[in-house]
Amino acid sequence: MFCPECGATDVEMVDGICKNCFLKKYELIKIPENITVTVCSHCNAKLEEGKWKDSYIPEEEIIYRALEKNIEIDELAENEEIELEIDQMRGTIAECYVEAIATVLGEEIVETHTPNVKVNRSVCPECSKRVAGYYEAVIQLRADSRELTTSEIEKAEKIINRTIEKQSKKDKLAYIPQVAKLKEGRDYYIGSLKSGNKVAEHLKEELGGTIKESPRLISEDRSTGKGLYRIWISVRLPKFEINDFIKYKDKIAKVIAIDGNRIQIENLENYEKIALKWREYDNLEKVSTKKDITKAIITAKSPSYLQILDPEDYSPIDIDMNDKFENYNIGEEISCIKIEGKIYLI
Ligand SMILES: [Zn+2]
Ligand SMILES: [Zn+2]
Repeated sequence: MFCPECGATDVEMVDGICKNCFLKKYELIKIPENITVTVCSHCNAKLEEGKWKDSYIPEEEIIYRALEKNIEIDELAENEEIELEIDQMRGTIAECYVEAIATVLGEEIVETHTPNVKVNRSVCPECSKRVAGYYEAVIQLRADSRELTTSEIEKAEKIINRTIEKQSKKDKLAYIPQVAKLKEGRDYYIGSLKSGNKVAEHLKEELGGTIKESPRLISEDRSTGKGLYRIWISVRLPKFEINDFIKYKDKIAKVIAIDGNRIQIENLENYEKIALKWREYDNLEKVSTKKDITKAIITAKSPSYLQILDPEDYSPIDIDMNDKFENYNIGEEISCIKIEGKIYLI
């Protein structure tokens, strides 16, 4: 046996030539000289086989992944180790260095390549929607039969921002392109319906109230006949706030807590606390607000009653004693509210 290329005799043959000649021509790895990747210039998502994948991956990492994806290692290689480096960026082109070390037919082979990775900048469909101010949902924050207070708006906006921030980790359309300040409340435009629903859900969970959705057809896709809808979600905070006064089944009560599940009230006749479901909401009548709370002076005290002076006409009034008022003494002031001509201590 002799090698037809170098004429050597008595040597190990591979593919009809000697091992030396074989290894001289041998290619340990194949990698294209020029690789192109298309990424979104806003979110760094990568276009692969017509689909936008991943996002918020640093550019360097995108380049390394593009190199890895394009390297083909020969099957004779054993214990291969591949080192990737970005030598320098020249405009949008990364000049790279690839070093591969492996054992081939018992010999250690080192091979280097200097491929270029061109990073094409484009805009993914989600980011282009975002740039265009696209939105799928509008949250209409309102209060029932009254104006929203500044503190309610502040609270609501904290909830909205927190929810949108959390959603934005998985939903690229979780953004607020616009907020409309209206006399009757605020309109928050939300990129995706999914995130809009989450916002409404969290608002109701923390602030209570009622949610109503009304879809509006905005256009129709002529090819599919499918309608494109935008959803208006009305989040209506209750007519009363905490510490306001309501009438429920002919009893006067103070609102002591509100959340997505219930309205907690304290009956001002016996100071019993009751938790009401939101379905009872329509049976609650707001009769007074915390602004109407006044002070009355205590003029007499016995184990069974407290006597106070009506803050309006100073007439003495006896009120049944309750554990709540045991520590009050004659001459002290106590908070009270007058509703439908009757005074309640609070
Ligand atoms: Zn040879
Ligand atoms: Zn994008």
